[in-house]
Amino acid sequence: MRLPEGVEAGVLEVLRSGMLAQGPRVAALEEAFAGLAGVSHAVAVNNGTTALVAAVEVLDLQPGDEVVTSPFTFVATLNAILEAGATVRFADIAAADFCVDPAAVDAAVTERTRVVMPVHLYGQVADMSALSPLAGRHGLAVIEDAAQAVGATFEGRGAGSFGLGCFSLYGTKNITTGEGGIITTDDDELADRLRVLRNQGMRARYQYEMAGHNYRLTDLQAALALPQLAVYDEQVKRRKANAARLTEGLSGIEGLTLPVELPGRSHVWHQYTVLVGSEARVTRDELSAALAERGVGSGVYYPRVVFDYDCYRGHPRVVTGEFPVARRAASECLSLPVHPYLSDADLDVVIESVRTVLGA
Ligand SMILES: *Cc1c(COP(=O)(O)O)cnc(C)c1O
Repeated sequence: MRLPEGVEAGVLEVLRSGMLAQGPRVAALEEAFAGLAGVSHAVAVNNGTTALVAAVEVLDLQPGDEVVTSPFTFVATLNAILEAGATVRFADIAAADFCVDPAAVDAAVTERTRVVMPVHLYGQVADMSALSPLAGRHGLAVIEDAAQAVGATFEGRGAGSFGLGCFSLYGTKNITTGEGGIITTDDDELADRLRVLRNQGMRARYQYEMAGHNYRLTDLQAALALPQLAVYDEQVKRRKANAARLTEGLSGIEGLTLPVELPGRSHVWHQYTVLVGSEARVTRDELSAALAERGVGSGVYYPRVVFDYDCYRGHPRVVTGEFPVARRAASECLSLPVHPYLSDADLDVVIESVRTVLGA
């Protein structure tokens, strides 16, 4: 992870100020994030998982109330819903964007469903033109797991502007504070409650309004993110150019499905994820190993559907099912390097290596 100029100076300034905890840098970070998502409020928290927990908690669900989400996601999505006390139900993903399929969500909704939680996987926003009206029809709140989608848009609207938007600032994410999270919303009352919830439920000193948490972010962390936000547009352009070069170089290979930026969406390419199908010359895992031998890193995000582990089997608040599109993605997905510090020559090595291993 490389950080842009200004980060060291910004962090030093906070160190020398002697005020390390939540303060003016966190406020500046919130303002920048609200602008990026195009909403009136952003509330910084200590990580992306607690952003999701807080978003579910402020909706005041009752025991047995359900959140419908994607089975093809990082485990934090599932853990946050459970931590907030809700029941998780899944809806299969669409092959085109790896995000929940609105028709599957519609079919999964029960009388206990209160929330739909799309995951904007790999940096592309889920199909909100179908999910937003669907949520309206069923009276559901929308919580976006936008951890991977900082700055992405759908029909000109920012990720995080369709309901409560939850972002992660973890070390591997597009903007990072090591650990950190942000919740965005246009709802004044929810924003207010989120600010109280993250601070022990305390509005004024020792005036408690709810059983809260310590979910605060520190100024030391916010100082890391501010210079990154200043150059983020530039970095997303690099990611887009890198993805375009990969797509041009990798097209037409038997058994290899390339990711697409769908019409009306601006993808921020947190990951560039291909599918290695059964018609390919080698399996996904063989391709990954052969790339590693050539010095090309790749990653599997994620190797199984999220609930397919012993610790969730038989869990009273995890409702499972058959999700063939998600299962196929889990067995075939492979993410290739796309980060903004790659040179064209680096990308050409990735392309040539994949072509060679797949005999193309
Ligand atoms: C990273 C991530 C999270 C959790 O964020 P943390 O900051 O690591 O807690 C949640 N959902 C998805 C899809 C993520 O990629």
